[in-house]
Amino acid sequence: MEQAKMDLSRRLFTFGLPMAGMATGGLAKVALAQGAAAGSQPTSVTPLAQIRIGRFTVTALADGYADMPYGYFPGRTAAQVEQAARAQFVARPSGVRFLFNQYLIEDGERRILIDAGPAGTLGRTGLLPQALAALGLHRDQIDAVIVTHMHQDHIGGLVADGRNNFPNADLYIDRRDVAHWTDPAKRSAAPDYVQPSFRLSAEVLRLYPRLQATDGERQVTRGVSIVDLAGHTPGHIGVRIEDAGQSLIMVSDMLFPVVHPMATDVYFLMEQDHAAAQAMRARFFPRAAEEGALIAATHMPFPGLGRIVSDSGKLRWQVADWAYQA
Ligand SMILES: [Zn+2]
Repeated sequence: MEQAKMDLSRRLFTFGLPMAGMATGGLAKVALAQGAAAGSQPTSVTPLAQIRIGRFTVTALADGYADMPYGYFPGRTAAQVEQAARAQFVARPSGVRFLFNQYLIEDGERRILIDAGPAGTLGRTGLLPQALAALGLHRDQIDAVIVTHMHQDHIGGLVADGRNNFPNADLYIDRRDVAHWTDPAKRSAAPDYVQPSFRLSAEVLRLYPRLQATDGERQVTRGVSIVDLAGHTPGHIGVRIEDAGQSLIMVSDMLFPVVHPMATDVYFLMEQDHAAAQAMRARFFPRAAEEGALIAATHMPFPGLGRIVSDSGKLRWQVADWAYQA
């Protein structure tokens, strides 16, 4: 069994890199042997990525991932999405892989976390506490959590195990999302697959008396501001981190892998207002491309850092070169 796997890997490796096969054959064997000796799942390694934005250190953490079936993207057929995934070499039998990235902002005084992940309510998730531990941090050391919107994959970790998991944190959520996700009429009219978000939102309100419902743009601390990116949900927000001429904008669910930013008329199942979602992307994509803005996006491949770039008017996602920044 093990031998068969190794032979297959070697064949694929040689097929993929015919010119380099001779020179790197030995190296490939070493890498496989190390994996086998450790007997470890590759996913048990906690991924961390860190960049500097002026005086801020921003660390990308991940709560895990889930594969979304190809039929979850209204505006395109399942076959079209699968074909796009194939063209990008990310087609999995189970669909499009969504990461759940969170971002920790530190300036030496405060620790601000953006979003809290699904915490086991979706896919293979619940790894955020482990990611914080890898940084030597515990949840009670977080001073503030900015919640980009109240979908379960962004708030689950706030209330996992029925408790306030960030007892020392101020919580910031846009007032329009708080209103939407606590509205009994909206809840009873909503489809099954958004019910967990309503249930968790009620928990968040019950367990976080320090919740601050915010209105539009506002500064959370010097250099860290909430930006209005409504559309994915009524109060969907982003976070701009800015200092010393450098900036990063965390845009949450502005972009989904495989389908964005190539088009704005393709949605994710959880988006209930397609016109608002399209308007959000139609406003943001070209502007971000023009500015060359450095972006962090929740569901893009880890660490979710990149830019929207224009190739003769065609937009695409360009992964950022983030490593080894001084
Ligand atoms: Zn999301």
